[in-house]
Amino acid sequence: MHEISVLYKAVELAEQTARDNGIEQIAYLTLEVGELSGYLPVFFEKYFPVVTENRDMFRDCELKMIIARGEGLCRECGAIYNIMQEKGVCPKCGSRYKKILGGQQFLLKEIGYE
Ligand SMILES: [Zn+2]
Repeated sequence: MHEISVLYKAVELAEQTARDNGIEQIAYLTLEVGELSGYLPVFFEKYFPVVTENRDMFRDCELKMIIARGEGLCRECGAIYNIMQEKGVCPKCGSRYKKILGGQQFLLKEIGYE
């Protein structure tokens, strides 16, 4: 479960950023999780209450997630397709030879406060 360690880092970063900006209470955090990042959003949901448990700043904090599509550009025919949906195979020509255009990221996108 490597999700817990990156989530821990994201929460720490959010906490530090909030503190630097004089924010006392974080209302929500938005993470951007790429489909190809290797991280499963369901684990972030599961661990978020655990990671934020003893942090006052995160009381009643909501976790939001943006899932970034994993897109590939077929190097054989130039088609752009969703890698997860097509299981890595170009739906147009059947090639596995591709360039990954996006969906590998994991980002702390937004810190929300009132
Ligand atoms: Zn193709």
